[in-house]
Amino acid sequence: MKAIKTFCYSAALLSAGLLFFVTACNENEKDVTKPVITVEEPAEGDTVHAGEAHGLHMEFDLEDESGLNEYKVDVHYGGDHSHSSYVKTTGTGWSFQKTYGDAKGLRNHHAHHHSDSIPADAALGEYHLGILATDVHGNEASVYRTFTLVAPDNHDHDHDHEDDHEHEDE
Ligand SMILES: [Zn+2]
Repeated sequence: MKAIKTFCYSAALLSAGLLFFVTACNENEKDVTKPVITVEEPAEGDTVHAGEAHGLHMEFDLEDESGLNEYKVDVHYGGDHSHSSYVKTTGTGWSFQKTYGDAKGLRNHHAHHHSDSIPADAALGEYHLGILATDVHGNEASVYRTFTLVAPDNHDHDHDHEDDHEHEDE
């Protein structure tokens, strides 16, 4: 009798454990879809001036059906490599990395950020902007933009960022 009781008890525990396991699995399998990143600025192939006090202007939309977590931007010199997937790069040239938490739990987020000022003496050439975004389930998406850093723009025009992004002479 004792053996049967123990067996039943074990079976019950096992079932409960299995139920929990299955439920937990279903929970995890709800969303395996990566966030969608749509980059507006910079456009692919854009030209950016070294010495820009407002830094690199970045605008993009993030979307995820189950909610976004953090997202990160990674700007770095790209004249020496290309990307098929995200690899953190350190090397020559100007770089800027920052992680943002202002989209946590949101399904849609319009991100508008500026990097730190671009040094006037930054190495010129091809740069990459990588944008990485994760959702609440840990799915990660990344996109890349390539832009070219050119010599400082010495035209004496007024950069009033809040009013207008367009420059008359471009
Ligand atoms: Zn790169």
